Amino acid sequence: MDARNVFAAIEAGGTKFMCAVGTGPLEILAETRIPTTSPEETLGAVQRFFLDAQIRFGAIKALGIGTFGPVDLDPRSPTWGHLLATPKPGWADADLVGAIRQTFACPIAIDTDVNAAALAEQSLGAGRGVRSVVYVTVGTGIGGGVAVDDAALPGFLHPEMGHLRVRRDPRDAAFAGICPFHGDCLEGLASGPAIQARWGSPLDQLDDALGAQSIIGGYLGELAAAIALLFSAGRVVFGGGVMSCEGLLPIVRSSMARLLNGYLPLKRAAPSLDEYIVAPGLGTRSGIAGSMLLGMRADAAAKRSIPRGERSIQSIP
Ligand code: ZN
Repeated sequence: MDARNVFAAIEAGGTKFMCAVGTGPLEILAETRIPTTSPEETLGAVQRFFLDAQIRFGAIKALGIGTFGPVDLDPRSPTWGHLLATPKPGWADADLVGAIRQTFACPIAIDTDVNAAALAEQSLGAGRGVRSVVYVTVGTGIGGGVAVDDAALPGFLHPEMGHLRVRRDPRDAAFAGICPFHGDCLEGLASGPAIQARWGSPLDQLDDALGAQSIIGGYLGELAAAIALLFSAGRVVFGGGVMSCEGLLPIVRSSMARLLNGYLPLKRAAPSLDEYIVAPGLGTRSGIAGSMLLGMRADAAAKRSIPRGERSIQSIP
């Protein structure tokens, strides 16, 4: 067995769990995609993948989890690493960290999938050299993560940008929205399932005579403008399945510009909006790469003494 350091990563989503082992965030030795079914079945398959990987590649030094939310990220909480009130059936209170800790006595770190992706984009992707990077995913749900100087923005929970209220497009007045908590919040209007519920098809398969792209891009532009106003973020990255619709990102930019109406000096952040609102530099790899980074940082933190209450990082004795 060689002496290389092997780290593990889980990108936990409502549709699939991506699992990887590697020697760095982009240096992957093996990975797999596990469908999200029940917690017992899914987490059992995750454990088996990593047990097998340990036999092939050596002991896992540390593991990072980037997960869908909402999730308890407070290391001092008895439910640290548990999902909270997710509408995903069966997953409320699921103990993600506990399932791993049963089998692997290594340091474990957990954060949201979008915080992990923001960290990866800041370290390795479209936000390199930028002190504050926001990563937004538009897919099964809508979420945003904030990385500031290589750390996720601390809070009592984590950002929940997808549930922001947006102004309704008058062309879209008949659609009630699908968020079980808010109806027509951003996620209720512009997530993949909302697009499917309204038009019966994914955005990139719709005839744009419906104006679908401009409606969805308009809503996402409201989020982009809010991010610029709230955080003065240096870079905003839009990823996720819905964003693979070609032509959507330019609509997000123009919607944002229209809403801000020249108020913010965005040229201080980037020469043009094309370089301010961007696609992920790591493509679809931001989440898994960021999860690996979380694990590597947990390993580094375990070697130091761990500052009390350090966010998202817990050493397992
Ligand atoms: Zn909502």
